Amino acid sequence: MSERTSSKYQLLPHCSTQAKDLIIVATCDGASSTGQIGNEVARRLTKAFPNQVRMCCLSAVGAGSKTHIDIFKNAKAVIAINGCQLMCASNVLKQKGIGITYKITVAKEGINKLPSLDFDEEEVKRIAGKIVNDFLSKFIGNQSQ
Ligand code: SF4
Repeated sequence: MSERTSSKYQLLPHCSTQAKDLIIVATCDGASSTGQIGNEVARRLTKAFPNQVRMCCLSAVGAGSKTHIDIFKNAKAVIAINGCQLMCASNVLKQKGIGITYKITVAKEGINKLPSLDFDEEEVKRIAGKIVNDFLSKFIGNQSQ
């Protein structure tokens, strides 16, 4: 990768070789407001805590990719972010025998699930802040989002 490219993009740790040092985040990325909040929260935590927190491909886990299943199984900790009460992220992980260290369901946090890909910035900040306060701060100390 060229220097120009690497300065344009924030490069993430290699999740396969560094899983044991990473808190791996799974988000359902549902096609709803709450699913998209979950995805945005996962993105922001990944970018805010480089080399500590890392989104990984949940679809690959669901599709049975051994590489991706092993990333989650070898992780330092696993966070599941669900858009709604169907809890698809948690259920995919469970079906593959992956332990979940911390889980959250956006629609159970006082946020209505809407048939929209749009979401409220304050709700993203609130959910990200809750994950940091309730869980991540034990690993990485309190840092604002
Ligand atoms: S948990 Fe809800 S929002 Fe997420 S993929 Fe499943 S049905 Fe969609």
